[in-house]
Amino acid sequence: MYNLKLRFLLNSITVIMCTGFAADVYAPKPFKTIMTNPLGKEWTPSSVSTIENRSHVVFIDNTESYILQVGTNIMGSLSVQDLNPLKEGTGTYSDALRSMFQILDLNTSSLANDNLTGTYTIHPELASYYAVDVDAESLNLTVRDKSSYYHADQDVSAYISFTFTNVVGTSGYTLEASSRYIYNFSTDTYEQDNNWSSLWVVLNSDGTVTLEENLNDATAWTIANSRDLIDVVADLGSDFNPQSTSWQTNNFAAYPTDANTGEPSAWDYNDSPLKTNQFYSNVDDDYQNQLGHSDEANSTASAVLNVIEQNLIDLGYTLRYSTDTYLTFRNALLDNNFASIDMYNSVLGERTVEHVYFTSAYGDDGEYHPFMVIATHNAPSGPQFLIDVARPPGDGTPGTSYDEQTITRNAILEQKLIKIPLRDYGLVDNLTDNDLSEFGSLASDQNLAISDYNVDNYTSTSSIGIAVDGVIMYPSSNNVLVYATFAAEITSTGIHVGRGMGFHYHADGYAFNQNGINLYNRDDYVGRSHPPIIGFVFDGIALFGKHDEDYIGMDGYSEILDDFGGHSHGDYGYHHHAFSSSATQSQGTDTYTYTQNFLQRGAFKGQINEIPGFLEVSTNQFMNDEIKRYVGASGTSQLEIGDNSNNGLPVGFAMYPNFPNPFNPITQIRYNLPKDNLVNISIYDIQGRKIRTLIDKNQSVGFHSCYWDSKNDLGAGVAAGMYIYSIQTGEFKATKKMVLLR
Ligand SMILES: [Zn+2]
Ligand SMILES: [Zn+2]
Repeated sequence: MYNLKLRFLLNSITVIMCTGFAADVYAPKPFKTIMTNPLGKEWTPSSVSTIENRSHVVFIDNTESYILQVGTNIMGSLSVQDLNPLKEGTGTYSDALRSMFQILDLNTSSLANDNLTGTYTIHPELASYYAVDVDAESLNLTVRDKSSYYHADQDVSAYISFTFTNVVGTSGYTLEASSRYIYNFSTDTYEQDNNWSSLWVVLNSDGTVTLEENLNDATAWTIANSRDLIDVVADLGSDFNPQSTSWQTNNFAAYPTDANTGEPSAWDYNDSPLKTNQFYSNVDDDYQNQLGHSDEANSTASAVLNVIEQNLIDLGYTLRYSTDTYLTFRNALLDNNFASIDMYNSVLGERTVEHVYFTSAYGDDGEYHPFMVIATHNAPSGPQFLIDVARPPGDGTPGTSYDEQTITRNAILEQKLIKIPLRDYGLVDNLTDNDLSEFGSLASDQNLAISDYNVDNYTSTSSIGIAVDGVIMYPSSNNVLVYATFAAEITSTGIHVGRGMGFHYHADGYAFNQNGINLYNRDDYVGRSHPPIIGFVFDGIALFGKHDEDYIGMDGYSEILDDFGGHSHGDYGYHHHAFSSSATQSQGTDTYTYTQNFLQRGAFKGQINEIPGFLEVSTNQFMNDEIKRYVGASGTSQLEIGDNSNNGLPVGFAMYPNFPNPFNPITQIRYNLPKDNLVNISIYDIQGRKIRTLIDKNQSVGFHSCYWDSKNDLGAGVAAGMYIYSIQTGEFKATKKMVLLR
């Protein structure tokens, strides 16, 4: 611990001296913060022309003064709020989203077997597993958990099926509570209440919303299309459904159950494997203080990252990005809380990402491989509209066609343990410099010839990165090499669930609709110099948001992206951006050209061949003797600085920042040699002219230093200004800047 603290202090000094870091690295606002922001646009409600299954709507009273909404905790009584703030644009995203509902035909989840009924359940946009019911005593309309993991734990599990009837001569509708379904705990099913008789929804003068017996008292509600407020829909023919694939009417897949007990195999959030004592005891003592969300965890993580950076320098390597970049990403991951209920076993307000910690370990060959490790529930914190996906993945039952399969319109939390390499392993020159033969690739799965490998198909068949909300990213193409957008299998946020019912991103929802509730949003750009950081690819390359047309002055705006979707500029290093580009794909005899909104294209630009445990994302990594050290398993930490030495001698090349800097007239340059070699250290002026040779001779393995007295080769003092010093020895080359004051 002494070493760690000392190193932390030394690094603090270094940071103070190296001023002028220009890279603007920041994270997008998490969904819970978006909720508190003003919507910032005026809105004129327009009524829907017909009531349709899956419509996203708002309910406005007949005086056009009030809008129906759920409370801040979603569950409980419905109430109304003043409509004007939303019309005037001063209302918040929370005001808007709490007023938005999706209406579903009673049979939506079983459409393959049942017909539409013309009666609807009403679901809060912020909680797709919840539905509108009534409180038996007060007769207030209330929101209850209808089908989450926890619904059977409620005092009452019930929902109402509504009939909407147009009031003749008006654009308003009465809402008739025409039937009610109550959960039977002994049969584990909802059963219709045969004693129910119709009641009507009434907005009372005290602001309560109740069910009443007399049709004459019923409020005529304007049912307005909510997409004018926040558009969450991917239309037929849009860039997220260019083939106009229609909405598939298959049954929804059942939640996974335990084969032995028949009970749900999803776990209670509070029993999450990431939150147990077992998880903590899996992690080495050296790293445990980084776990969780406390201030102490944050400062420990920062200190450990400083040690890792110094270890890398000592070995002649570098962190790929600044420590700030990794800490910004870490803080953002830990700042996501469920602000909606779209996951079967999520809990409103709880964290989506449990731990982000840095590990420091060497391979058996002595190679150093530090990582950022992320323990995540792999779930976004905002609503995801899975019901709306036109053609979700089928269950893949062998011997069945798609229309016979159940499909995934629901999601469960998972446990993922993601490793992002911190060491700069370099970049590939050619696509196939990365060897994917051990893992398989979309290209090899499709039996493509190596000559046909490209940045779309030479990529993993599974997850390739993690987004800043803690959700994994897949390549833009699906497993049959068509873009997921083209296959119409993702939501308007660019996400979907696979057969295992876990979420993953395939495309950029921001570029698609800019509706303000995506992974990142236009609001994030204001006052910044570069798009926000929105993810990390497993090869260690950072992913930033798309360059927005409204922010053309941003750093790197004019630097063209390469085939991988990346570029390099200023102090940012090589990094990816989400981007949009024209795509042409064919289905049968038809060819479609549309705009493909890429999040992460697929192929790895970072060198992956040396990264241990590449593509491993499960907590089973703790049990794997080869790679458990890289996820920080108990007994594996190699954090201490002394571990770098080779019988007290350096094991890698290094050149350190000169000290002092700025200086007048003498400064010291320290460097490490892992073996005997010819060493040249020279000083150049800012025009690149060599002005002094400090060292040019054979030197032995060890820790070295030399001094520059600010004189040139002729012995004359040089002018004040910036100078560059460089070292070359064998394969190792490095240059740094320094400033002479007079
Ligand atoms: Zn997918
Ligand atoms: Zn850039």
